[in-house]
Amino acid sequence: MSAPTYDLGKLHGGLRLQAHKQMSTAEPIRQVPVPAQLILPITQHAGDPAQPVVDIGEHVLKGQLIAKCEDALGAPVHASSSGKVIAIEPWPVSRRYGEDAPCIVIECDGEDTAIESDEDFAAYDTLSSEALLNRILQGGIVGLGGAVFPTAQKLMQANTCDIEFLILNGVECEPYISCDDVLMREHGRQVIGGAQILMHALSIDACYIAVESDKPIAIRNLAEVLGEVDDPRIVIKQVPTIYPSGGEDQLVQLVTNREVPSGGLPGDVACLVQNVGTAAAIHHWMVDHEPLISRITTVTGDGIATPMNVEARLGTTVENIVKFAGGYTENADQLIIGGPMTGKSVTSDRVPLVKATNCILVMSQTAPAKPEMPCIRCGDCAAVCPVQLLPQQLFWYTCADDEKKMRSHGLIDCIECGCCDLICPSHIPLTANFRTAKARIREQADEKARAERARHRFEARNDRLERSQQQRDEELARQKATARRAGPDAIAEILRRKQDKTDED
Ligand code: SF4
Ligand code: SF4
Repeated sequence: MSAPTYDLGKLHGGLRLQAHKQMSTAEPIRQVPVPAQLILPITQHAGDPAQPVVDIGEHVLKGQLIAKCEDALGAPVHASSSGKVIAIEPWPVSRRYGEDAPCIVIECDGEDTAIESDEDFAAYDTLSSEALLNRILQGGIVGLGGAVFPTAQKLMQANTCDIEFLILNGVECEPYISCDDVLMREHGRQVIGGAQILMHALSIDACYIAVESDKPIAIRNLAEVLGEVDDPRIVIKQVPTIYPSGGEDQLVQLVTNREVPSGGLPGDVACLVQNVGTAAAIHHWMVDHEPLISRITTVTGDGIATPMNVEARLGTTVENIVKFAGGYTENADQLIIGGPMTGKSVTSDRVPLVKATNCILVMSQTAPAKPEMPCIRCGDCAAVCPVQLLPQQLFWYTCADDEKKMRSHGLIDCIECGCCDLICPSHIPLTANFRTAKARIREQADEKARAERARHRFEARNDRLERSQQQRDEELARQKATARRAGPDAIAEILRRKQDKTDED
């Protein structure tokens, strides 16, 4: 069955930005050698931290599980190469809302020996949806577009909706970043294979691969692969080159002309969006049996000697990757993890490459930030906001810490795209304010959810203890009744056994 087609929807607002992508796409993807040391944060995903399952001094193999998650609310972490665990300690990381995080440090042995799995890797199309989701969870797969939401959890949620369309996001609209572009140019088969696995997991027959119109080589390569695999369920959709057309809700609107409701999810309009890199990672895990231990990242900017796209093992430091790309230029000034619009400035290149790192951007000295001035109520920020918010008003509410008003004015829908900042003639740091306010609200919600889960666990444990005490009491009463019928020696024996049991407990 071929995928139904829709007219392209329209994106509200947005900006046409200079792309700066050619500087990193001139050469094919290069492989960064395995470094002497790998730094692997136990939390490289949205959700609960994974728990280390290795000890200091233990030898591990490439692909071995080193931190597990209790359920689909997290993602496991695997060793990116073989070597010895030399520390489990806090290390600087490039998280958006934090500095140090617990990491497993591996001293590599240079052998890069992979673990031999004794698991039965059945073909994906022989697995039930549940078994397939469980396998995706075991592979440590998370959304590689930047959100790092555990993929199994996202699929599980999607399966509670009536999904019609899978949309693979190959839009990559933020300037400088080109890792998805080169992935689609060079690994189209993995992307399309991943789409087929995802469609099986969702039991659907329609997938759009959305690609911006300024990526003709990627589009051509995907079309060639599609011709070879002859799968009419998958359709390539070109979308206009405008920032931020790759935002999840914006993409759903562009591709299907359906509007995701405020505070809702694409599932509310029968869509599921996955990044093309995530699809390729799923294929690599299900077909080549390698969990998520490496990724493609763009290392670029005029502060880098030879901008390029590289594939590097997770846990490789940014310092190593920059060295591989020829090092810093003389005037390198600012190191950003991610793109210029949504990335985060970091002060140290000791931070490791993690599942979320789609770009290492080094900028040369830029003009000093212009001083912030009062809002002149020009309305430009509202005109460019792709979510149709009123950034100038939201700004007041975030300054006043008025959560009720922030919520009612749609703060949670803000995708932190930075368009309002870029256009504001008063140089007001709108997005930074929104980001901090959202983080605060999210942290409170996470804390509440964690407390709720802990309460459930506590109550379940109490119930269990109560039940077992009740069973013991009933058993004792039964034995006493039997003993009363048998005589005094039997009672003494039962009391002695009860005492022994109490001592054991
Ligand atoms: S950062 Fe938020 S408020 Fe500003 S334009 Fe983007 S979505 Fe709108
Ligand atoms: S763009 Fe800046 S100055 Fe204009 S309304 Fe928005 S916040 Fe105010």
